[in-house]
Amino acid sequence: MSDSYDVVVIGGGVMGCATLHYLAKLGVTNTLLLERDTLASGSTGLSMAILRMHYSNEITTRMAKESRDVIADFESETGHPGGFVNTGYLFLVAPGQEDALRTNVALQRSHGVDSRALTPEEAARSWPDIVFDGVAAIAYEPDSGYADSSAVTNGFALSAREAGAEVRIGVTVTGIVVERGRAIAVETAEGRINAGAVVLTAGPWIPEFLQSVGAPLPLSWVRHQVVKLHRPLNRIPSHPIIADTASGISFRPDAADLTLIGTREDPTDRDTYNRSVDASCAAESLEYVVQRYPAFDEAGWDGGWAGLFTITPDYHPVIDRVPGVDNLAVGAGFSGHGFKLSPTIGRALAEITVHGRATTIDMSPLRFTRFAEGDLMGSAYGAGVFA
Ligand SMILES: Cc1cc2nc3c(=O)[nH]c(=O)nc-3n(C[C@H](O)[C@H](O)[C@H](O)COP(=O)(O)OP(=O)(O)OC[C@H]3O[C@@H](n4cnc5c(N)ncnc54)[C@H](O)[C@@H]3O)c2cc1C
Repeated sequence: MSDSYDVVVIGGGVMGCATLHYLAKLGVTNTLLLERDTLASGSTGLSMAILRMHYSNEITTRMAKESRDVIADFESETGHPGGFVNTGYLFLVAPGQEDALRTNVALQRSHGVDSRALTPEEAARSWPDIVFDGVAAIAYEPDSGYADSSAVTNGFALSAREAGAEVRIGVTVTGIVVERGRAIAVETAEGRINAGAVVLTAGPWIPEFLQSVGAPLPLSWVRHQVVKLHRPLNRIPSHPIIADTASGISFRPDAADLTLIGTREDPTDRDTYNRSVDASCAAESLEYVVQRYPAFDEAGWDGGWAGLFTITPDYHPVIDRVPGVDNLAVGAGFSGHGFKLSPTIGRALAEITVHGRATTIDMSPLRFTRFAEGDLMGSAYGAGVFA
């Protein structure tokens, strides 16, 4: 075990592990990832892991399409399974949002995404068990679905390790050592480790690191709940993923007879938030699902969990070098929709580390300084997870 590496990655969620994998693809294998707990123990392991491609901007459309293609064929990328399940995705918008939806569908199609704008009547003919009341238009993506967030994270880490990278779990990074505008080492509970460059992917725990190097970001947290249901398999063998801008709810099938509902974004304290589901929230979201899909009236509630979205003011991430520290890259503020973009984020962070900038997709719209400049990312549906 060495105490000097070309690159040290802080945090073993999907972003850190994807970065390690893409560093190895660029030929950089004298690398170390440090994770204080286990891989995917943060927001990643709690994720609904939905992969949709409906976005309002060209950069996120490209990222979602390319990332979906990597995760759908994950074994070709890493040699390991990613658990992709192709369910199709129905994105429902409220009255007044029809034009925005059609504009986005045209954007997605121009980037090779099979996305189709449907009226409620057209959708009801294809999915007669679903009620489209109150819905103005639907975007249907037949190629979307969900994956296994732990499998993807571990797959990226395994493929990097097979190329020579090192992963140490149970090691907490306590600081980044900066000298003359360059990161030269990280401090850990087990001592100092020298680094040629550092990548910061510590999820909700990034703010303290950025404060310590004098480059704060406006990050905050919301608590997102996931309600677990058993659905009647004889009536609903499976179903597409359904997401609704009016309610903010998404629900998707899971293994066996399970369906997961993702709901609510409540401001919370990062370190003390309640990790279980509120009974009132489960009741409200089940009521919504039954209205939308009446065959769920026989579904039974079976607990669930809550996790953190680390959000930015425009609900888009920051993928950039940290101002003032040349060789420190950061991926932060994924605002509840990072998993689906993770391959392109890992690739961009690896490129920034090796080449000084993201070369495959220009990441300047997601630059660190955009909040200070007042040049925020827009979204057709207002700020929120449906960016
Ligand atoms: C309930 C929920 C549902 C979601 N659903 C979706 C979805 O359907 N689709 C989608 O695209 N996205 C979804 N997301 C968002 C997505 O999961 C996140 O954007 C993504 O997982 C963020 O990954 P990360 O690697 O940045 O962070 P994390 O997974 O939080 O990883 C950060 C890691 O850093 C480690 N760490 C922190 N501090 C230190 C330290 N000092 N030293 C060492 N290690 C440290 C932590 O232990 C952690 O493992 C969801 C998130 C939640 C919570």
